[in-house]
Amino acid sequence: MPHEATLDHAVATLTDGTEVRTPFWRIDSGQEGEVLLVLAAQHGNEVQGCEVVRRFREVCEQSLRAGEVFLVPFANLPALRHRRSHISLGPEQPYGDDRGHNMNRTWPGDPEGNDTERVTHSLHEAVARHCSRCLDLHSWSRFTASATLARGDNELSVAMAEVAAIRFIQWRNRPDDTGQGTMIGALFNNDPARAAITIELAPQWVIRDKEVAAGLRAATNLAKLFGMIDGEPELLDGPYAELGPDSDSHQDRLHEIKAPFSGLFVEAGLETSDHVEEGQLLGHLIRVEGLETVEFAAPATGYLHQYGCFRPNCDVALPSQHPYADGGDALAAVLEP
Ligand SMILES: [Zn+2]
Repeated sequence: MPHEATLDHAVATLTDGTEVRTPFWRIDSGQEGEVLLVLAAQHGNEVQGCEVVRRFREVCEQSLRAGEVFLVPFANLPALRHRRSHISLGPEQPYGDDRGHNMNRTWPGDPEGNDTERVTHSLHEAVARHCSRCLDLHSWSRFTASATLARGDNELSVAMAEVAAIRFIQWRNRPDDTGQGTMIGALFNNDPARAAITIELAPQWVIRDKEVAAGLRAATNLAKLFGMIDGEPELLDGPYAELGPDSDSHQDRLHEIKAPFSGLFVEAGLETSDHVEEGQLLGHLIRVEGLETVEFAAPATGYLHQYGCFRPNCDVALPSQHPYADGGDALAAVLEP
């Protein structure tokens, strides 16, 4: 039976007295069940999830049979308008220079805090505190495969990761309690009655249909897991590629290729998450000295965890994405499942 979404707003008053009205949808099946939050764009340049949320609304309007969903396509509206991760960042400034404005370090927010903490608090009061399950949609750079981030110590978070159907899963430990603001995922996963996963849909800055479709499948599968939508989850062909919370659990399965000398790295038309066979061509370096071409082959059969030449802060700065490699720069990494 179709259910129409209701539009509502979380209202924050900023330090200068102006208001931020964050729009969200709420869909109530009218039946008992879990309350699922799906939010996107806590970081203003991570926009793939915004379209996932819009499409998931349509799925829920048609198919929700139990529980309730809260859908927030633009969690950090000021950062979205600023077109950067946090409102405090200027050109090429890394995420770490957040000066207290990294929204995903501010939960549950503070009505007397800085402007980001105030927006977080409004979302916590109007949305998050009503919810028992959370899918938090982010994006990282194009050089690292899309992945589910889940908490191995929360059984529900594990179950969520196992139906999300994103090839890579990164298991995380419970974060240290700093007494400061926390991540929304930790807010849910530290409570035995609640659970969350994060999905990083690569890359940032753009919206790609393939990634949006993967995000929509994940959200729909979660609703099926919780009995909110009928049907079996649509799972992946082949195994998950899992990375442990520490490198011991995957270091013998993760094969990294670094540039042995400087040169221009030319990719061989692959993408992160692609399956590669041992010996398959991954790309070549054009060495400046002698203009020699040096090819790189996959050192193992597995999935591309990283692909392309990049350096730190490639998520905010174009030169860090430049394919001219110095010796030691990352070119690719293959993970055996
Ligand atoms: Zn993010």
